[in-house]
Amino acid sequence: MWGDESDVVDLAIEWSAKRVVRHTDPLSTARSASELAADAGPTITASGIGGAAALDVFDRVLEPATRSQDDPLNLAYIAAAPTRAAIAFDFVTSSANIFGGLWEAGAGAIYAENEAIAWLVGLLGWPEGAGGCFVSGGTSGNLSALLTARETALTRRGSRPPGGWKLACSANAHSSIQTAARALDVDILDVPVDERGHLTGPALRVELERSADVFAVVASAGTTNEGIVDDLAAIADVCEEFGVWLHVDGAYGGAGLAAPSVRHRFDGIERADSFIVDPHKWLFAPYDCCALVYRDPQLARATHSQHASYLDHVDRESWNPSELALHLSRRARGLPFWFSLATHGTDRYRDAIESSITTAQEVAEAIRASDHLQLLREVELSVVIFERPGYTDAQYSEWSHEAAVSGRMLCVPTKWNGRTVLRLAFVNPATDPRAVIEVLETLR
Ligand SMILES: *Cc1c(COP(=O)(O)O)cnc(C)c1O
Repeated sequence: MWGDESDVVDLAIEWSAKRVVRHTDPLSTARSASELAADAGPTITASGIGGAAALDVFDRVLEPATRSQDDPLNLAYIAAAPTRAAIAFDFVTSSANIFGGLWEAGAGAIYAENEAIAWLVGLLGWPEGAGGCFVSGGTSGNLSALLTARETALTRRGSRPPGGWKLACSANAHSSIQTAARALDVDILDVPVDERGHLTGPALRVELERSADVFAVVASAGTTNEGIVDDLAAIADVCEEFGVWLHVDGAYGGAGLAAPSVRHRFDGIERADSFIVDPHKWLFAPYDCCALVYRDPQLARATHSQHASYLDHVDRESWNPSELALHLSRRARGLPFWFSLATHGTDRYRDAIESSITTAQEVAEAIRASDHLQLLREVELSVVIFERPGYTDAQYSEWSHEAAVSGRMLCVPTKWNGRTVLRLAFVNPATDPRAVIEVLETLR
C-alpha cells in the first residue's frame, strides 16, 4: 500500500539527528496562519506532495515558526531544557510504537518508566508500594489525582455532601486547579496566604474547622509565578488531623526534591497522598511528560479502571498505567526521561538542578545590588521576580517585546501583588547568569 517508505524514513531520521545537536535559534517565533499558508502552500492533496516536499515545508516554514523552548535565554513562562539523550530517546520511543497503557502490551517500557518513578518516590520519602504513571502534563496529572481524592472521600463518607464537595488551596495555586475544580464540579475554598505568599497550617485549619466538605487540599511545591513552596509539614499535620487528602503540585518545582540546597523546603511532603512533577519542565525531558504518583495506587485504580466487555481480558493484577489516570491508550512518554536519567545518573541530575538554583541566586543578587532594579522577594527555588521602579505597563511590554524580537532574551511581564513586574524562570543548566545580567542593564 505505502511502498517501503525507506526514503522518507531516512530523510526524517537525518533531519532529527541534525536538529538534536544544532544550536537553538532564539529568533524562531510564531507567525500568522495566513503568512504560513502563503509560504507553505497546499500540503494536503489527493495524491500527496511526497515526503521530501513535506519535510522541506516543515524545515523551511513550519519549524522556524515555533519557539525554541531550550534556548538558554528563554526565561519566560517555564521553558524546557531536555538533554540530547532524552530527545534522541523520544525518536526511539516513537519508533517502537509501544502501547503503554497495559502491562501485557507494554511491560518492558512500563518497567523502565517505573524505575524512573521509583527514583521520585525515593526522593519523596514515600513507602514501598507507592507508584504511578506518566501523563501528558500537570493539568492532566492534577485532574487525575483530584478525581482519585474525590472518589476516595465519597467511598469513605458514603454520599456527596448536600452542598457539594470543596477543595482547599491558596490563590497562588496553578490555574489548572481551577480547571480541575470546574471539571469535577466542586467549589474552591480559597485559603488566605501568609505575607510571603505561602499556604500555612494555621490558615488551613481555620477553613477546615468551618467546612466538613473538603475532600482535598492542594499545596504547591513551587508556584509557577514565584516558585513558592507552601508550608508542607504544617499542612500535612492539619490534613492528617482532619482526614483530608493532601495533593502536592510540584509540576515545576518538584525537581527541587533532588537538590540538597533546597530539599528542606519540601519537608512534610513524605506525608502527602499524591504528587505530580513535569519532567518537561525542570527534569530535562522533552514534551510532553508529567509524573503522577500516589502513596496508595490502589485508590487510583478504584477510581480510574475502565470496565467493558472488550476489556474483560485485561490482567488487573499487573501494573497498568491506564488504571491510574484519566486515559486508556497512552504512549510510553516516560521513556525519554528514564533514558536520560539512566544515561547521566542521578548525581548529574542533582548538579543540573542545583546549577539553575545558583544561576537564579546570582541573578537575584545582581538585581539586589543594582541601583535601577528592585528584587521583590527572596528566591525559594529558581524563579526571580523583580521590577524596574518607574516603568509603566507599556514600558514593560515594549522592553519585553524588544528583547524578544532582537533574540536577546525572553522575559515577559507578570503581576505581583496587583502590580506589573518582571519574572525570570531558570530551568536550563546552559543559562549563563552573566548574559542575563547584561540584558537586564538595558532596563536602565
Ligand atoms: C506548569 C504547571 C502546571 C500545568 O502543567 P502542564 O504540564 O502545563 O499542564 C500545573 N501546576 C504548576 C505548579 C505548574 O507550574
